[in-house]
Amino acid sequence: MIPYGRQSIDETDIHQVIEALRSDWLTTGPKVAQFESEFARYVDSAHAVSVCNGTAALHAAMLASGVDGSHEVIVPAITFVATANAVLYQNATPVFADVDPETLLIDPADVLRKITPRTRAIVAVDYAGQPCDYHALREIADRHNLILIADACHSLGGSWQNQPVGSLADLNCFSFHPVKPLTTGEGGMVTTSCTTMAAQLKRFRGHGIDADFRKRTQQVTHRYDMVELGYNFRLTDFQAALGLSQLAKLNQFCARRTEIADQYHSLLAEVDGVLPLQRLPGSQHAYHLFVVRISDPHLTRDEAFERLRNQGVGVNVHYRPVYLNSYYQKQLGYRAGLCPVAESAYEQILSLPIFPEMTSSQILTVVDALKNCFLRSQPLSKAG
Ligand SMILES: *Cc1c(COP(=O)(O)O)cnc(C)c1O
Repeated sequence: MIPYGRQSIDETDIHQVIEALRSDWLTTGPKVAQFESEFARYVDSAHAVSVCNGTAALHAAMLASGVDGSHEVIVPAITFVATANAVLYQNATPVFADVDPETLLIDPADVLRKITPRTRAIVAVDYAGQPCDYHALREIADRHNLILIADACHSLGGSWQNQPVGSLADLNCFSFHPVKPLTTGEGGMVTTSCTTMAAQLKRFRGHGIDADFRKRTQQVTHRYDMVELGYNFRLTDFQAALGLSQLAKLNQFCARRTEIADQYHSLLAEVDGVLPLQRLPGSQHAYHLFVVRISDPHLTRDEAFERLRNQGVGVNVHYRPVYLNSYYQKQLGYRAGLCPVAESAYEQILSLPIFPEMTSSQILTVVDALKNCFLRSQPLSKAG
């Protein structure tokens, strides 16, 4: 099976992790600090604070935004559940905004319609790796005194109007899960230019304590103070070592993803009924996902999904509108019909395999398998 996404781990990565395991620090050590500072430099942000996964990054961003039970946070309907769940962790209310039909990015016009006096923040999800319209979102956020959070879990390595992802919103959240642009196994990061927020993020991941173990060691003191309720959401040093090693290859990974996407675009131009999402001018897409719409009267997305899987092509669907999940429906009372563009797009979308080590012949295999889906959708073969 050709997977829809996959990590790229080489001998350098393995060596770096082994070195970290042999060192004095397995966690909260120098590798974590080095990964944070190199990551901050890469995304052109003043501060980067590592956490144990992307979900914790979003949770931390909600806390640093001052989101509490009295607030609403606007999130796009099409995203991974973690984006909206992070709002629930703070006892706040996720309000779903619809997406643009061509890109499936949050629709700024619908964001405007969803703002109420309780709104505290907007989460921009750079869906599939394509940066949102940060010009429009920044303007809305500033006008209504809202915090702009980027869920950039898909878009590390991308840029918008020559500004790197990671420096586009007030708080920018990343995931280092194996299918994401770079991996530490599990891991996450939040970047911000705000020193106060950076300090909050650090307390959040370390029990709400004002200084970590390494800092206390350096200062020759046993004293610490827990100033607020925090968590243990830290990244380990051997994960940070892997992250550093992966970060050095991120540009290569992105370049290869772009090549694969370009090849898909040209090969799919001649396949009727398979429509790649629109790419926007003026931004660098990170191509975490390559999403197409199956738009054909004789072939549903689910038929295409099954026929591709049967041909060894590991396609996937990203994502069902979050509020259609049963928890959101049964426990929280959200109803279908909230975001009609997202709901109809969901019926058609399919993520094709894309990952840096994907070969050109695998790309051809995927496209041929897609063509076969249509052959087999003729009425005659359907009856057989
Ligand atoms: C992966 C992902 C997350 C969560 O990241 P984890 O590291 O798996 O916790 C959140 N939002 C989006 C859009 C993601 O793709």
